Amino acid sequence: MVKLIAYHVSDEEAVIINEWIEKTGIEVAIVKDSLTLESVGLAEGYDGITNGQVSNVDSRVYPILKEYGIKAIGQRSAGYENYEIDKAKENGVIITNVPSYSPESIADFTAFAILRQLRNIDAIDQRVASQNFSWEPVIRSRPMNKLKIAVIGVGRIGSRVANILKNGFGAQVVAYDIEERDEFRDIVDYQPDLISAIEDADIVTIHMPSTVDNYRQFNRDLFAKMKKGVILVNAARGRIVDTEDLIEAIDAGQVQSAALDVYEYEGPYMPKNWEGKEITDDTFIKLLNHPKIYYTPHIAYYTDEAVRNLVEGGLNSALEIVQTGTSEFRVN
Ligand code: NAD
Repeated sequence: MVKLIAYHVSDEEAVIINEWIEKTGIEVAIVKDSLTLESVGLAEGYDGITNGQVSNVDSRVYPILKEYGIKAIGQRSAGYENYEIDKAKENGVIITNVPSYSPESIADFTAFAILRQLRNIDAIDQRVASQNFSWEPVIRSRPMNKLKIAVIGVGRIGSRVANILKNGFGAQVVAYDIEERDEFRDIVDYQPDLISAIEDADIVTIHMPSTVDNYRQFNRDLFAKMKKGVILVNAARGRIVDTEDLIEAIDAGQVQSAALDVYEYEGPYMPKNWEGKEITDDTFIKLLNHPKIYYTPHIAYYTDEAVRNLVEGGLNSALEIVQTGTSEFRVN
């Protein structure tokens, strides 16, 4: 009988794990602890692990797992930077991720992030709060079907965003991707390079992964090449945008506003309740207090569907490795 242990389990995840146990009949021990040198002992006697932590796993954990005969860690996220995957492999530990868990959720959120800015919702909210119900150009908007929107990165999420914007709102959608795909040509008008895609777009939305090539690619130089008053959305990765340069471009009126669901140095704060605690990162403080930056805490994915897919994905892959020795989602 297979026995799994689930580390770093939140209350909402525990509910889904219990339903999975009911469905599969597999025994799963649920623990709140992260997988550390101190907690690895809890795994002795189990066949596989599922883990959800984003903090680094100590490399000395892998030889201990080998000793216990554990060959599987089913990570419940897309990212797996917290593992030394080669060290894990040397010790016969296969790690899996969940590369796609609900692109629809992030696409929905992106459409909202665009409309929130375009329709000046936050300014309207403030005015309504002080009983100002007047119509003035400062809150006047533009219809989507008259706008050009640039989608940067047309993969699972970007293609869904493009589809909503083009077929739902009637916007003109241009795109840049390092790898154009024929299946998306009817929803995006691919441009040969990033500059051609962004230079006369009214809205730019980023949906590519963070790579060495696009580190802070959205910087002072690129903002200067955009149309004055452009609206930006970044629900991809914080490292792609130079935050200080963005603040400068907004203050200069070059960029109208930005919705950021991610921030380069979000790591220490996400997803934690920081109420009453000091934030020491000056750029983060500026971003949080900026009236034209709409910051959300890496929450674009956060729906019931996504949480369920992540939890079940981690469990299913750990089980698959225990039963078959491999998984299509292995990363090492
Ligand atoms: P995907 O792999 O399906 O698509 C990414 C696309 O970007 C691909 O078509 C790829 O060719 C393209 N690309 C890669 N490098 C590029 C570059 N330098 N310039 C232009 N295009 C480039 O990925 P996805 O599932 O659509 O996810 C996209 C990103 O969304 C993820 O990498 C992740 O960073 C982010 N994400 C955010 C959240 C959130 O909650 N905010 C959740 C999940 C994913």
